Amino acid sequence: MRAAILAIGTELLGTDRLDTNSLRLTQSLETYGVPLVTKAVAGDDETQIAQTLDHLFTQADLLLVTGGLGPTADDVTRQAVARALRRDLCFDDDVATGIEAKFASFGMRMPQVNRRQAEVIDGATVLANPRGTAPGLRCDDERGTVFLFPGVPTELEGMIVADLEPWLAERSGGAGRERGMLKVASLPESTVEERIAPAYAELGRENVSVLAKAGEIRVQFWAAGAPAERRQRLAQMAARLRGLLGDAVFTDREDEDLAAVVGDLLRRRGESLASAESCTGGWLGRRITAVAGSSDYYPGGVVSYSNAVKEDFLGVPAALLAEHGAVSEPVAVAMAAGARERLGATYGIGITGVAGPGGGSEEKPVGTVHLALVGPPAAGARSEDAAGSALVEHRRVRFPGDRERVRWMSTQLALEMLRRHLLGVGSIAGEGNAEGRRSGAEAGVA
Ligand code: ATP
Repeated sequence: MRAAILAIGTELLGTDRLDTNSLRLTQSLETYGVPLVTKAVAGDDETQIAQTLDHLFTQADLLLVTGGLGPTADDVTRQAVARALRRDLCFDDDVATGIEAKFASFGMRMPQVNRRQAEVIDGATVLANPRGTAPGLRCDDERGTVFLFPGVPTELEGMIVADLEPWLAERSGGAGRERGMLKVASLPESTVEERIAPAYAELGRENVSVLAKAGEIRVQFWAAGAPAERRQRLAQMAARLRGLLGDAVFTDREDEDLAAVVGDLLRRRGESLASAESCTGGWLGRRITAVAGSSDYYPGGVVSYSNAVKEDFLGVPAALLAEHGAVSEPVAVAMAAGARERLGATYGIGITGVAGPGGGSEEKPVGTVHLALVGPPAAGARSEDAAGSALVEHRRVRFPGDRERVRWMSTQLALEMLRRHLLGVGSIAGEGNAEGRRSGAEAGVA
């Protein structure tokens, strides 16, 4: 079996929408070991879609089609597929009754236009769509099988799990390909590549790939075979790669954010974090609070964008601001300490920088960011220091890229600094990341 994907929707040909459905479908194909040979995007044009399907059938015998099953006149996928398969469309009373019942359950009457969604290609199997009104269809033809799915990603997801994957499982005899992943924060791609290179020969170069995005590297690896066999292989591969990457790996879950990992560590230790953000404007707080249950370890943060807020809400001394400027080590440290002490947390993080595009200078070019992590004073600190905070780490970095990237990288590095501290594995500087430096720890900063 060889597969092709066709994403339908004029909006997908423009600049506003990206075809992400094909990525999700590809994931299922990979899991069940079905090679994807080509992908196409077509607008809502009956002739264009029918011709594309004819063409795809010359290369594949499983066509996965999404989009254009809606009730409006521009949704022509059913007609186009019927035309390509040289079949008729017939009105299906049962499907119509089901759609009416769905509207009724919301206390609404079905608009007349939705009757179009009850048109079924002759001989097709109707696939229920519990998350929407447009049912999917599966048509078996002498050239192969066509699945029609709605374009709405959540509706598609439900039908992949309920219809496509069981169908693929039946035909693949359980054999397939599965992907494992390790995520690394704040190491350059080349360092990651260098570290895992010794494993390429034994794992198979084609089975491992490194995907970089700003501040986060994903090491992906694949294993093939029956489910139990490939999972065992994936576990072995993960262990080998982890061995090479060490503490740089923060998760093996694709959907787990660094903020969730840090949150887990704080919760397990019964500790907490407060933040003081300038150039990131609350982005760090947003990432932390995106994790359910984060109130267990995050009392809150201060978006201290102006100097006045830094002074009034965080107690940053005006003299420090005047002497060093807002983007400086002493101010980042004082912000972190202010947040920690005023919000009553175990740790405080302060971030202040020049996100750009303007505002840079020779001394502090765009992309310059100071990040400070402070914690409780060291045991045995003098009593007058006891209410203060101790500096855990300060880093001055210069991130490349635009405003968004500088801001994102700042939140990522701040979280990584804390993660490494909580694990007791030393700073990123020791990981071969040339950017930034670590200040002498334990300096009192009250
Ligand atoms: P419905 O009748 O439920 O609207 P539909 O099959 O007609 O479903 P479309 O109207 O084509 O679906 O698209 C509905 C939504 O799903 C739109 O917001 C669209 O941008 C999004 N969408 C459609 N195709 C894709 C795709 N390939 N990738 C990501 N999003 C998509």
